[in-house]
Amino acid sequence: MSANGRSVSILGVTGSVGQSTLAVIEELRGQGADIAVEAVTAGRNLAALADACRRLKPRYAAVSDASQLTAAREALAGLNVEVGAGTSALEEAGARPAGWVMSAIVGAAGLAPTMAAVRRGALVALANKECLVCAGPLFIQAAAQHGATLLPVDSEHNAIFQVLTHPQRVEKVTLTASGGPFRTASRETMAKATPAEACAHPRWSMGRKISVDSATLMNKGLELIEASYLFGFKSETIDIIIHPQSTVHSFVHYVDGSILAQLASPDMRIPIAYALAWPDRAPVSTARLNLAELGSLTFEAPDTVRFPALSLCRRALARGAAATSALSAANEVAVEAFLEGRIRFLDICRIVEEAMAVLEGSESGLIAKTPTSFDEVAAVDQAARRAAQRIAGSLAAA
Ligand code: NDP
Repeated sequence: MSANGRSVSILGVTGSVGQSTLAVIEELRGQGADIAVEAVTAGRNLAALADACRRLKPRYAAVSDASQLTAAREALAGLNVEVGAGTSALEEAGARPAGWVMSAIVGAAGLAPTMAAVRRGALVALANKECLVCAGPLFIQAAAQHGATLLPVDSEHNAIFQVLTHPQRVEKVTLTASGGPFRTASRETMAKATPAEACAHPRWSMGRKISVDSATLMNKGLELIEASYLFGFKSETIDIIIHPQSTVHSFVHYVDGSILAQLASPDMRIPIAYALAWPDRAPVSTARLNLAELGSLTFEAPDTVRFPALSLCRRALARGAAATSALSAANEVAVEAFLEGRIRFLDICRIVEEAMAVLEGSESGLIAKTPTSFDEVAAVDQAARRAAQRIAGSLAAA
């Protein structure tokens, strides 16, 4: 199957990954590929949603906030698209009969709509890493039970997927990390970092939440958890290395000493096109690497003292699925508080660490038990959010 003939839906079409998906679809349509768009979703950006509907011509469009239904209908008037609003409308978008679904809503909000696609046995192109970090084992089990295929779009996981020739013969994997905007910054500089500085990623252009996660290296920690759940690798077989050029997107080390890697320009259209055309490949006009111009590639060990997020994520992964769910939820709260100017940059990891400590103390029953249902995942998520909100509130007041 190539991209030609696919029926697709895009959850989170107004975001950075959503817009790159739209660009890939438009380019392939321009080459004559027949790609029908079933459904698209947005959070609150009605102008971008209307633009996407004009260009993609989906049958259904949903916005996250139920109170925006009338405004969404007005924004999409004349575009011949059915409009829904609220969480059930987002789930309907995932449930509509598209064979291929891009999961690109940010955060745990992406879980339920993505699960609606998983339950139909769709090909699910997974950009949203929080789905896996929140509900990894349940999510993977559900995909297997319903015959859904998960196609990793996060560039590092997509790289591993592309070079995973012998899954049973893997010794370890190495996830690369650009190091983010504060790779060489002192703790003092990081302590004063503004949201604009934290979002100024040196290599990738991304949404604000993942940009802040890249600045704390929480993103790499979340990716470590994602890789563990997605591919079944143990924490100790997943290395992380700083690679400022963001050219090698990950390495797979095999038992005979061979290492396979995927290299490409840092452009999300590449993993998106790979997932859209899988198991084929599609011609897309992304920047080609010029190896001679590149000259050299460099690698360095991450500084786990300046970037405590990596250890926090390893610890959560060792504790189990409830802990990774709690960590992701606490991090969402902390990043939002930072982006809204309520706390400082270094408070993000502090809040996550303290929220985990709260849960391990007073709510240890909740976090010790592996969730056996999505309701149990939601209970852990809510408890972690409450703890993180409390800690963020006290730091903001201090
Ligand atoms: P953006 O912030 O750019 O976009 C997020 C999307 O989610 C938007 O469509 C937004 O809608 C929507 N959204 C936000 N909140 C809600 C909500 N509560 N309910 C429903 N929809 C909502 O994020 P990115 O595109 O950067 O990232 C999306 C996901 O992909 C994340 O999980 C991220 O970790 C992952 N990812 C991103 C990469 C990148 O290069 N950007 C790379 C690898 C993974 P609106 O804007 O209309 O409010």
